[in-house]
Amino acid sequence: MPNPNITLVQGDITEQDVDAVVNAANSSLLGGGGVDGAIHRKGGSEILAECRSLRASRYGGGLPVGHAAPTTGGKLLARWVIHTVGPVWQPDEDRSALLASCHRESLRVARELGARTVAFPAISTGVFRWPVEDAARIAVGTLREEGEGFEELRFVLFDKRAYDAFAAAL
Ligand code: ADP
Repeated sequence: MPNPNITLVQGDITEQDVDAVVNAANSSLLGGGGVDGAIHRKGGSEILAECRSLRASRYGGGLPVGHAAPTTGGKLLARWVIHTVGPVWQPDEDRSALLASCHRESLRVARELGARTVAFPAISTGVFRWPVEDAARIAVGTLREEGEGFEELRFVLFDKRAYDAFAAAL
């Protein structure tokens, strides 16, 4: 049974000293609000430039929901940003497999890059409105099942409510 080292902090994902940070991006890869806006603001224009090349080379139609793709970390402490697109919450449709896929695919990309430490935000729980307790259960469950071999997998929660939800899930 895998037993990854999963940690939690309340804070800002753009300030994490890890190999890779995961971005709760949108499918355009051209930036947005929340985590996405913060990462682009602090990481600088190099990240957006690489996002544009990803669109030009592989993701002309946008990065699909549940997929993940890497760019440089630009001016962040992290060497890489792994962009993933979470599902928008739909009360009448179960999209948990897509939210799990964001986490699984981000781990797969992190492994390919050779990242040993990875920070995740609470994907889909902001603008995409996923209830944080449920998102926490899916996120923690997927990292537990799929996160073998990393030195540290860190959830970075912006506010106390999200922190408490992830602590309960852990
Ligand atoms: P999504 O569109 O996937 O819902 P958001 O960026 O809107 O993504 O929100 C995801 C979560 O990230 C929310 O819980 C939000 O409070 C949190 N968040 C916003 N800014 C930051 C930040 N700088 N660091 C960590 N978490 C953040």
